[in-house]
Amino acid sequence: MNLLENIQGILLMGPGPSSVHPMTYYALSRPTLGHLDPYFINIMDEIKSYLKEIMGTENNVTIPVSGTGSAAMEASFVNVIEPGDKVLVLINGVFGTRMVDVAERLGADVDTIEFKWGTSVQPEEVEKKLNNESYKLVAVVHAETSTGVCNPVEQIGDIVSKTESIFLVDAVTSLGGMPVEVDEWGVDICYSGSQKCLSCPPGVSPITFSDKALAALNNRKNKVPNWYLDFSMIIKYWEGEKRSYHHTAPINMLYGLYQALKLILDEGLNNVYKRHQDNHEKLVKGLESLGIDMLVEPDFRLPMLNAVIVPDGADEAEIRKKLLEEYQIEIGAGLGPLAGKILRIGLMGHTARKHNVERLLTALENILN
Ligand SMILES: *Cc1c(COP(=O)(O)O)cnc(C)c1O
Repeated sequence: MNLLENIQGILLMGPGPSSVHPMTYYALSRPTLGHLDPYFINIMDEIKSYLKEIMGTENNVTIPVSGTGSAAMEASFVNVIEPGDKVLVLINGVFGTRMVDVAERLGADVDTIEFKWGTSVQPEEVEKKLNNESYKLVAVVHAETSTGVCNPVEQIGDIVSKTESIFLVDAVTSLGGMPVEVDEWGVDICYSGSQKCLSCPPGVSPITFSDKALAALNNRKNKVPNWYLDFSMIIKYWEGEKRSYHHTAPINMLYGLYQALKLILDEGLNNVYKRHQDNHEKLVKGLESLGIDMLVEPDFRLPMLNAVIVPDGADEAEIRKKLLEEYQIEIGAGLGPLAGKILRIGLMGHTARKHNVERLLTALENILN
């Protein structure tokens, strides 16, 4: 028996992975080239230029990390943080918490400001903290996938820019679904993932380093403690006339990323963002008419991740089970303090389409009746 023969198409409406466009599946199946093949290097260069456009940056070091979003998170910290460095992490969900774990494992002296899950980071609190203390790095998650909250990265960036700190932003869920303006917002390191709004399968993760972040890497006292993610070496594979081998690039995954980015740019960034927003509004309206409330206040809602409160008397695990088994739709459960209390409905990338929203609303209506 071949297990792959029995995979059923499932509509992916959870917190990622999202649905993959047929052209991206086709891209993944193109013939594998060598990692130093000149034709492949052209593809790498094009990926870099597409990423710069989508991330809103002129940073030369704007490349995909081989690994999922968490590898890019790890790469962000491991390249610039040394034992004893002071780091401030702004937390209002799972991924802020994960950043603390990553930074602490590197021996950083980590400080946090925590905000209630489901509410946004308050820039005034960040300002107060930075008036009293200085940090090597300040980190925040743009789109907190665990709660559906959008954090005000631009405003936080204005505050961090007045200090010496490196500003690190997790854009795993936001990139490709809403504007991410790395240069304009004063972001020094920004990373994402392929399987959220970029709608490529998981496995490669965009990242960008500003000159300030690269200076921190170049001025390290010790080598980067992780060989695989050491950007001082990886850059030599992605830049310059003569490319040198570091690790074998995940060739076909990069074909997939190339195609996924190209689909977004061909549609037009503003059209893609509008498609996410329109479908989010349609979903919220439909949910409200079913008597389902949203967790997050309207001003801070993410278009691509909709956290909804489990209706009174309904069993959230049962809803998810029925959606999957009877309607072939996957949505997500709540995490941490929100486990059992919310459901997470993703409208990421290729999933964010009117017919998908309608299909989910009809299924939910049937299940709740
Ligand atoms: C999904 C996600 C990650 C982790 O990415 P993986 O691909 O699961 O490793 C990090 N941050 C945010 C905000 C995410 O949504």
